[in-house]
Amino acid sequence: MKPAAFDYVQSHSLEEAMVALRKYGGDAKLLAGGQSLVPLLNFRLLRPAALIDINRIPGLDRVEMIAGDALRVGALARHHTLETSPVVARHFPVLHAAMAHVAHLAIRNRGTIGGSLSHADPAAELPMLALLLDAIITAESTGGTRHLAARDFLIGALTTALAEDEIVTAVEFPALPAGAGWDFAEFALRSGDFAIAAVAAVLTLRDGVVGEARIALMGVDETAIRASAAEGLLQGQRYRPELIRAAARSACAAINPITDLRASADYRRHLVEILAERVLAGAWNRAEGQAA
Ligand SMILES: Cc1cc2nc3c(=O)[nH]c(=O)nc-3n(C[C@H](O)[C@H](O)[C@H](O)COP(=O)(O)OP(=O)(O)OC[C@H]3O[C@@H](n4cnc5c(N)ncnc54)[C@H](O)[C@@H]3O)c2cc1C
Repeated sequence: MKPAAFDYVQSHSLEEAMVALRKYGGDAKLLAGGQSLVPLLNFRLLRPAALIDINRIPGLDRVEMIAGDALRVGALARHHTLETSPVVARHFPVLHAAMAHVAHLAIRNRGTIGGSLSHADPAAELPMLALLLDAIITAESTGGTRHLAARDFLIGALTTALAEDEIVTAVEFPALPAGAGWDFAEFALRSGDFAIAAVAAVLTLRDGVVGEARIALMGVDETAIRASAAEGLLQGQRYRPELIRAAARSACAAINPITDLRASADYRRHLVEILAERVLAGAWNRAEGQAA
């Protein structure tokens, strides 16, 4: 199918894009990588009056380390940039690892960080990683700038806290605690498909005891979630296989999966328990390796 007719507005600055968004008053869509938007247009599930192309805005694709060893990623940075950036691999290896699981290379080459966060697919890797890494999302409009924690930004399936005239301009990942161990695992029916379920974790050990635990899950609820109760179970504990199993069961109890054509809710629960156990063991191993 072909999309319904729309005005095409090419923005050469953030200011131009913000003014155009305000002008169309909620009846325009930003065009970034187009990997999610264009199929929706082609199926006529969306019929915006205008597309505002932000690809020519200079500097919006920058990836850089900033004060306090935080990583700042411009909204137009592509998935493939994070996948191949040595800076990301060194400072945020869990983010680096997860990016290789996003779709196929051709899609990762076009799809953007701002587009993925704004689209908020419940089975997208980047929103989950933003939640895991306590990322801060910058949203700008002609009315000003807001900085939103990922947990406040992600509201539900395809739903965020963005106002209709706001543009995501960047996402900041604060430095991970020194010596943090991490792991990421997902299950998809075929390589490149959206995952049926995924789990990521970051664990920090102090003298063999968990100082901080973070666990994020996706594909198994309205949006990516943190398994807070499981994180609490691990806090202050030493390694025991039964502890890891209990935390994995607790993560599983936190989810509200659906049944669809690809998997039943029960199968998703089963997957989460297995993936969580593997990921927690992997993160613990890495944390111990760092501490040694
Ligand atoms: C076959 C296929 C498989 C895929 N598999 C995966 C997968 O496994 N994992 C995964 O995470 N994704 C997957 N995707 C989605 C892909 O990663 C998209 O690139 C991503 O979700 C959207 O990024 P985009 O830059 O293409 O956004 P676009 O398609 O351009 O835009 C998506 C939405 O976000 C809005 N938007 C874009 N940029 C901004 C901004 N800066 N501020 C505010 N709003 C904005 C748009 O207006 C639109 O509503 C897949 C896509 C396809 C086609």
